[in-house]
Amino acid sequence: MTRLRTTAVHGGRDDLADLGVHALPIDLSTTYPIPDQGAGGLALQHLAEGAAHAASPVYSRLHNPTVARFERALAALEGTSAAVAFGSGMAAVTAVVQAACVLTGKPHVVAVRPIYGGTDHLLSSGLLGVRTTYAGADHVAEAITPDTGLVVVETPANPNLDLLDIAAVAAQADGVPVMVDNTFATPVLQNPAAHGATYVLHSGTKYLGGHGDVLGGVVACAEEHAGPLRQVRIVTGAVLHPLGGYLMHRGLATLPLRVEAAQRTATDLAARLAAHPGTGLVRHPGLPGADPSGLVGTQMRGPGAMLAFTTREDPAAVVRRLRLVTPAVSLGSVDTLIEHPAALTHRLVPDTAREESGVPANLLRLSVGLEDVEDLWDDLDQALSGGCEEDYIKSSSSDFREPVASH
Ligand SMILES: *Cc1c(COP(=O)(O)O)cnc(C)c1O
Repeated sequence: MTRLRTTAVHGGRDDLADLGVHALPIDLSTTYPIPDQGAGGLALQHLAEGAAHAASPVYSRLHNPTVARFERALAALEGTSAAVAFGSGMAAVTAVVQAACVLTGKPHVVAVRPIYGGTDHLLSSGLLGVRTTYAGADHVAEAITPDTGLVVVETPANPNLDLLDIAAVAAQADGVPVMVDNTFATPVLQNPAAHGATYVLHSGTKYLGGHGDVLGGVVACAEEHAGPLRQVRIVTGAVLHPLGGYLMHRGLATLPLRVEAAQRTATDLAARLAAHPGTGLVRHPGLPGADPSGLVGTQMRGPGAMLAFTTREDPAAVVRRLRLVTPAVSLGSVDTLIEHPAALTHRLVPDTAREESGVPANLLRLSVGLEDVEDLWDDLDQALSGGCEEDYIKSSSSDFREPVASH
């Protein structure tokens, strides 16, 4: 086993020397010649039954060599025997729910809020035929029933950076599979499988791709759990395009450097934001008091590059004044992105549930990128100091009021 940075650069590339190439080949074939149709049929059957590879890929919905290289690289970084990639993070979440709940006839999910708004909506809406009980991290055991097929958690959580103890949740789950969304931490900072997670999920759209130009998802897990995920992927067609596999695999090489650099800047900005009169609550796992259980340094190798803060005035007004920071959903890109969860990523979470899970209406989420820290600070400082727009009544608390209707 090589160390993290080496694995990030070399993972999933073992066959390139034999192929006589240096860069990752992008295999765009949708179909593969099968002169021996009987042998091809056997390959098809192996893949449809969940095998990682077969004598021929047969058809690219069943297997793709470019995507398979990315999967091997990601599994190496997460320390799991397998990984299965999908066309988006949500396709990956869907496949986990289908494998853990639908295939097993256990249609009940226990989840700890907050989680990504899309996952929350998927679990709450009934669209996949599962029922979900939301419980506090210390009350997962009580929420589990004989029907529970899956426990879903995120740490650090989207959008408020709550941390939870994965091993403690896994102990409460007592054999029920646990999915940990590791999108915020990346495999650079946290390997949930080592703490008892069954499924480690990434929206590869975020840090893994890292440049805001590829949509994808991936689940790292033991081979025994990967088979059903591949079966689901084949029948639902939720495949990752090989170009996406290539871009995310290429992104892995610089992932440790990007995360470490952005994390340094985020740590610096979190301290400055906490001291700024324009903010209320500032959330970053590296801030004093943010990590009472001491998970940074044990479960996590660092506090990460995501942070969140409440604003004294209307968060939308703060966002409007930003000149350098990009106002957009998504995260983990080379450029710094800001978004308003109550308006966007967590819009579909009911207001009371959102508030109760520690996501106030005036919270902004910041994904710190690779720019110079002083340029980012200049921009955030001027936006937070911009002062009173006439249409808003500033309240003395950290909550903002709705605009006074005047337009
Ligand atoms: C973005 C995101 C997802 C969904 O991923 P997509 O690639 O957008 O489908 C899931 N979980 C978290 C934590 C995310 O940030």
